Formats: sequence, structure tokens, C-alpha cells
Amino acid sequence: MSDAIPKPLPHPDRDSEPYWKALSQGRFQLQRCGSCNALRWPPRALCNRCVGFEFEWVDVATTGRIVSWTRTHQVFAPAYRGEVPYTTVAVALDAQEDISMIGGWSTDRDPRAGETVRIRLVDAPEGFKLPCWEPA
Ligand SMILES: [Zn+2]
Repeated sequence: MSDAIPKPLPHPDRDSEPYWKALSQGRFQLQRCGSCNALRWPPRALCNRCVGFEFEWVDVATTGRIVSWTRTHQVFAPAYRGEVPYTTVAVALDAQEDISMIGGWSTDRDPRAGETVRIRLVDAPEGFKLPCWEPA
């Protein structure tokens, strides 16, 4: 009998549902403001630059650079007990460098600050794909 605890899954809401749907289809999309053209992350109703309401979902570059990373050795969430140690990275997107996206790291070696990376979508239960990063 397995006592494995399932890992948490995304809970799409009104603002983030299109993001998760695009990922499940293998596309990396963000909101682009209809007033100032800034990309928005995380998805939200208002632009954080100009407070505009209008936006569209657009495909964006799937590359960026490592800003920071950390390795987790402690089991903070029981669902990840079998995965420690694991690495989490913060990536500044090439599409807009002031967007820093947090994600998993999908290779065994340590990431390097400033390293160029690309997104890799990892299959998850219920049809979700989760964004991880790997060397470009
Ligand atoms: Zn705007």
C-alpha cells in the first residue's frame, strides 16, 4: 500500500485559467497590456504599469536567464519527501526582463547565475503541464 501524498496542482482562476490552458497545449503565453504593451505576470485584471484593463494573451519567448536559485534539502511539504534535494530557479524572461518567474530545474547539475535557459513543460496529473527550466 502506498502512502504517497499527491503533489499540489494549480488552481486556475478567472485570471490564470488561460495561462494554464495554453501550457497544457504546449504554448507559453502571457497577458500583454492593451494600453502600454507591457507583459503581466502573474495574470491579473489590471496592468501594474498603467492600470489599464485591456489585454490579450500572446505567445512569448520561452527563454530567459537565471537570476537566482536555491536547493531545498528539508522536507517542507510531505508530497515532495521523495524529491529532496530539489532545485528551484528564478528566471528573468527574455520577453520582458523585469518579469521573474519561479520554476523547477530539470537537470542534475547546479544552475549558474546569468545562465541562458529555456522552458520545459513537465506533464502533471489532470492534464496540467508545469513550467520547469533547463539550460538553453
Ligand atoms: Zn499597461
